[in-house]
Amino acid sequence: MNNQTLILIKPDGLTKSLTGNVLSRLSETKLDIVGARMVQVSRELAEEHYRELKDKPFFDDLVKYIMGEYHKKKVMALVYYGENAISKVREICGKTNPEEADSVSIRGAYGRITTAGVYENVMHASANPQDAEREIKLWFTPDEIIADIYSTIEVEEQTKTLKWQ
Ligand code: UDP
Ligand code: MG
Repeated sequence: MNNQTLILIKPDGLTKSLTGNVLSRLSETKLDIVGARMVQVSRELAEEHYRELKDKPFFDDLVKYIMGEYHKKKVMALVYYGENAISKVREICGKTNPEEADSVSIRGAYGRITTAGVYENVMHASANPQDAEREIKLWFTPDEIIADIYSTIEVEEQTKTLKWQ
């Protein structure tokens, strides 16, 4: 079954120049990249992305981590689409805890646990179709995705947008 998944190369991955390594490993899946953008993560976006973890003791540090407080303040967000995209990407990504992750997985090879106990595990990958839909809609607008993955509606809006001069 074809599905889509949200991938984030987290600030530690970008700071450690692991973008190429992560993308090369992901290319083994032969999935299609249908969206990509660089994002400076606001507190609002960070808290919304990880809202299911808001009662966890590591939540505050996790929000700071994804906002780039400890690394470069940027995240690379991607949407991959294709046959079993969610499970294929989770497999290469590896377990949440980098010490438990298979050592040839991305998290196993490049992740670490900080002394504060946060898993700096280089990348995010949606865990299931419900998470994928919520997460993709949070990180991307419909016109930033070059595939018809979710239904859309046309809304007329009068907003100020920045154009190249
Ligand atoms: N995390 C952590 N400590 C934990 C569990 C999670 O620092 O005990 C962080 C880690 O960066 C992880 C993120 O919180 O990737 C989201 O946790 P989740 O349980 O959703 O794991 P994932 O879906 O990322 O594998
Ligand atoms: Mg998760």
